[in-house]
Order: sequence, then structure tokens, then C-alpha cells
Amino acid sequence: MRPPSVEAISNAAMSASAATLPIDILRYVDNYLGRWSIALLAAFICLTLLVSLLFKHRMQHNRAQLQSNKEMLATILDSVDAYIYIKSPSLEYQYVNQRMCDLFGLSHDDIIGRRDEVFFDPGSAAEINQVDSDVLESGKKVTVEENNVLKGGARVRTFLSIKMPLVMSPGASPSLCGISTELTDYREMQSRTHYLAFYDSLTGLPNRRLLMESLTAALEHEEWAVSHSALLVIDLDNFRLVNDIQGHECGDQLLISVAEQLRQRLEPEATLARFSSDEFVVLVNNLGEQETEAALKAERIARHLLESIAQLRSSYALPVSASIGISLFSGSDHSMDSVLQQADMALQQAKSSGGNALSFFNTEMQTSVLERASLEADLHQALERNELALHYQVQVDHQGVTTGVEALLRWYHPQRGWVSPATFIPIAEENGLIVPIGYWVLRSACEQLAKWSHQAAYASLTISVNVSSVQFQQPEFVRDVEGLLAVTQAPPGRLVLEVTESLLMREPIRVRNTMLKLRAQGVRFALDDFGTGYSSLSYLKRLPLDELKIDQSFIHELLTDKTDAAIVDTTILLAVSLGLTVVAEGVERKEQLDWLKGHGCYRYQGYLFGRPTPIEYLFETY
Ligand code: C2E
Ligand code: MG
Ligand code: MG
Repeated sequence: MRPPSVEAISNAAMSASAATLPIDILRYVDNYLGRWSIALLAAFICLTLLVSLLFKHRMQHNRAQLQSNKEMLATILDSVDAYIYIKSPSLEYQYVNQRMCDLFGLSHDDIIGRRDEVFFDPGSAAEINQVDSDVLESGKKVTVEENNVLKGGARVRTFLSIKMPLVMSPGASPSLCGISTELTDYREMQSRTHYLAFYDSLTGLPNRRLLMESLTAALEHEEWAVSHSALLVIDLDNFRLVNDIQGHECGDQLLISVAEQLRQRLEPEATLARFSSDEFVVLVNNLGEQETEAALKAERIARHLLESIAQLRSSYALPVSASIGISLFSGSDHSMDSVLQQADMALQQAKSSGGNALSFFNTEMQTSVLERASLEADLHQALERNELALHYQVQVDHQGVTTGVEALLRWYHPQRGWVSPATFIPIAEENGLIVPIGYWVLRSACEQLAKWSHQAAYASLTISVNVSSVQFQQPEFVRDVEGLLAVTQAPPGRLVLEVTESLLMREPIRVRNTMLKLRAQGVRFALDDFGTGYSSLSYLKRLPLDELKIDQSFIHELLTDKTDAAIVDTTILLAVSLGLTVVAEGVERKEQLDWLKGHGCYRYQGYLFGRPTPIEYLFETY
């Protein structure tokens, strides 16, 4: 087969498409690639055309220059940043420029006369042949993006190719002329950018943005308008503790395991995304037209996910659990934001029920959320309107002698009456109001201690004050306590600050320093609700604690539940061996008191001895 001459290529390039080719390429390239490629291709085309024009013109007048012009044109075709080739009607290469030789890693002679099966893997060669045959059959030029793998190469290479039929001599079957530029790096960069924009780099899951797009699609999807979908917001319980205690690397590892666990458990049609730190979101469509049926399915999925997360428990020192909030929706009568907001409210509900739980959004929940919002608004006024009060509950020893009291906060709401601290303290902790409220409690307790210090009958009594971890972690906390002790002249040794286990775990070094500074003033510390959180025995040893308060939940079933009895027994032994006073909370019955006494616990608090009461009735009721 005679290879086409360089003049034939330039002639063909001119006559076949000189007018339209550059415009098409430029338009395509402008759409897909950007300016740098336009410049490159435009330069190439202009150069080719210019040289071929010059060449043609001169050829007629100066045949002596033919050889040097041929070489010049060949040099230009070889040096452009594009693959240029001509294939015969039976698709064997007839001409390739140097870039083609570089691509295949072969010499010119090794390529000419061979078909693409020799250079590309079978799948790629078949695809190339198909496009080439279509061009030759239709007689039309095509612009096509080709993804091919070279023989022996593992990487998919992307080419932007322009292919057109080329009649080499009058009456002959058309050959195929092709010009390709490589887009491999560009496409890889593009897919990486897409990955970074839509996926979470830690877990590889879709991120918030991608999920929001899926959610929008779900809301707009006509077929799904009648069927229900569910949005599940999954949040790990106490994830902060994992980060704080075991370090961020462990935290990351846990998130990866949770992501993997969820991915394995979900049907492939479900969309799973990581929304923020330890929050995952699942979108499940097509749960059925009936709301109850859909709710049951969603509940089953959520339960399944909770169980699978709980299986991670054994791999970590701390148990792993999660809470799930579920919002059911159908059709376009919901906005994306409202679906998410509802699932979030449901999540809060699941969290406040103690975690490792799931909760559905419903209208009652919305009512309770609104109720909470109104309570929060009122709480802002509670201090200045004098609606807060301190009640006191006695603590006694094994001989029935009162050793001190615990100060318990009460809120008398003008419309609602008494509001439990269990209701309003979490709100105050969330919005920061606990700081001024806690300060007020401390001041009242110090004032009371100062008064008692002048009355012989009460001078030895202690007052225990509950300190929220939010309050304790304020930088001014030590200064505030010292200031109050100084101003009120309360004896510091009679003030017991009750802290919870979660505080100790949070920032152990800072917490220890704060405790040590106050301990230096004589202030004492009790660990409240012991047994309900996670305690590390080494912290218990290193912190300046004076008391352990066994949570009332263990005391309630003490006589009937063997596990509770064992926990209480062990706690007493632990406290004794650490040199701490152990106080049993929630003692209501004489039998409980006897059991505790028999097991070495000699301090008690509970309804058996007195309910929390205003100070003026405290010793009357006792
Ligand atoms: P806590 O510190 O564990 O207080 C003991 C709770 O048990 C009190 O509930 C008390 O009324 C209740 N209690 C005492 N004896 C018995 C009993 O024999 N049986 C039963 N069933 N319950 C008993 P209260 O007053 O509702 O306080 C609940 C929680 O609110 C407190 O638990 C404490 O964590 C928090 N709290 C109360 N006052 C304050 C405060 O001034 N600041 C902070 N940060 N938290 C406070
Ligand atoms: Mg307490
Ligand atoms: Mg307690």
C-alpha cells in the first residue's frame, strides 16, 4: 500500500473541511476544555493550513524547493501537540505523525500497515473500529471523545478526536483522517475535583452537597410523588468522648468503620452520606404509598442500622451506639429544609431519651419542640424575675445524724408552676444561661453556709452544689468561686461541688487543674450520679475527689435486681479503697438503708430522710 504524500494530507485537510473544521473544534473545545486547548488547536490548524497554502503556491513555481517544503511540513505535523493519522479504507494506518509513534512506543515503520488491534486492547480496538467504520460509511466528519486502553497499559487514556473521510485520489474509496488531542490528565483532574466537591474524603461517602441533590431529586420525582421516602439522620452517641479519650485518630477510625458498617447494611438504592463530624444521613425512597407501611419499613431499616453500629462495640474500649431521627415524606409538598429539620428534631428526641434509640418526627414532637422554645424564652427572664429558688435535701450518716444538704434548683414558672430541673437545666446548658444561673446557685449556697457558720447547731453542715460541666469549664470559674467565698465569708471546707463523670472525661488535665486550685482553698468535690457515665479508674485516683454518689437508679432495684446490687457493692468497695466517702442517692425504704449499711455505705440521701424543701422548712420536716 502506497502511503499518502504530505501534500495529500494538507490538500485533504484544506478541501475536506478547511472552512468548518476549525470552527467545530474550537466550539467543542471551548465547551469542554477551556482556553489553553483552544490556543493549541487553533495554532495547529492555522499553521497546517498556512504551510500547505505556501507549499501549494510555491510548488507550481519552484519544484526545486519541493523536498525542503515536504520536510518542513512533516516537521510541523510531527511537532504539534496532537495525534495525526490516516487510515486506509480497511483501517490500516497509512500515515502517523511522531506523536503517534511516541504514543505506541514504536517506530513509524512498525505502525504503518497495521490495524488498531495491534496497539489497543481488544475492547478499545473494537470501539475505535466502530467509530471509524461509521465515519467511512456515512461520509461525515465526527467529533468524539474516546476512552481507550493501550496494549499492555492499565490506564484508560481519553482522547478528543476529530475523524473525517478523506478521498486520496479521484474515484478511490475514502480513507480516514484523524486528529486527536489527549484529555487524560484533564479528565482525571476533573473527576478528582468532582470527587472533592461531592464526597467526604475520610469515609468516601457522598457529602452533604450530593445528598441534598439526591433529596431534591426525590422531592421532584413524579413517580415517587405518591410513594413515601424516609430521611434518617444518624448521630453517634458520645462521639466526643472517643475523640477526647482515645484521640482523633481513633475517632476517625471509628467513623470509617461506622460508614463501612452502614454501607454494608443498606440496600444499594439507598443514599448514604456523611453530613458532618459524626452525623450520617440515609435517604430511602419507594417505601410504599401507605404511611404506616412506610413507617414500619423505615423503622426496620433504622433498627437494623442501630444494631449494626452496636456490633462495633467490641473493637473499642468504649461502647459504640447511635441515635436516629426519621422523617417520612412523600411528593413535593415538603421542602428539602423542612424534611431535614424534622429528621433533626426527631434525632434530638432520640438523644434526649438516652441515646441508642430511634425516633420519628411527628406533630406532637413539633409541639414539644415549640413548647421547649417557649420555655427557653421564659428561662431568659427567670433570674431577674426571681422565679428561681433553691431547695435543700438532707444527707445523713448511719446514725441518722444530718451531715449536710444538697442544694437543688427549682423554677417557679408563673403559668406552668414548678418546672423540674431535669427539664430546664439541659436547656440552660445549651444556651449558656447555666453560667449566670449556676453563679446564682453558688452565691445562694455560700450565703447560706456563711449564715450557718455563726449558728453552732448548723456550723458543721456541708452544702453540696451541682455544677454543670458548661459552668465548670468557664475560664472564670475558679475566680468566681474564690470571689464568692471571699465576699460571703463562707467556710470553703463546707462547700462540696458535685461534678459528673462526663466532665472528668472531657478535658482531664484542665479539669484536674481547676479542681486542684479550688481544693487548695479547701473546697471539696463529689462525683455525682456515679455509674451512669464512663469513668476511668485512673482519673478517679488522680483527681482530688472526696465523695462518690451512687446514682439513685441503682438504689431503686437494689433489693430485687442482682446486677444493681453487685454494682452498688463494687462501688462501695471501690470508694473505700480509694479513700472516698460513698453516698447512696435515692434511698426511699428502710430495707434499702439496712442493705447499704450492711455493705459498708454510711452516708445517704433520699425521701426516707426528707424531700428537697425550702430552707425555712428543712429541719421541720426532718
Ligand atoms: P442530682 O444532683 O442527682 O439530684 C438528686 C435528684 O434526685 C434530685 O432531683 C432529687 O430531688 C432526687 N431525689 C432525691 N432523693 C430521691 C428519692 O429518694 N427518690 C427519688 N425518686 N428521687 C430522689 P431534682 O431536684 O429533680 O434534680 C434533678 C437533677 O437536676 C439533679 O440530679 C442535678 O443533676 C440537676 N440539678 C439540680 N439542681 C441543680 C443546680 O443547681 N445546678 C445544676 N447544674 N444541676 C442541678
Ligand atoms: Mg447532685
Ligand atoms: Mg445524683
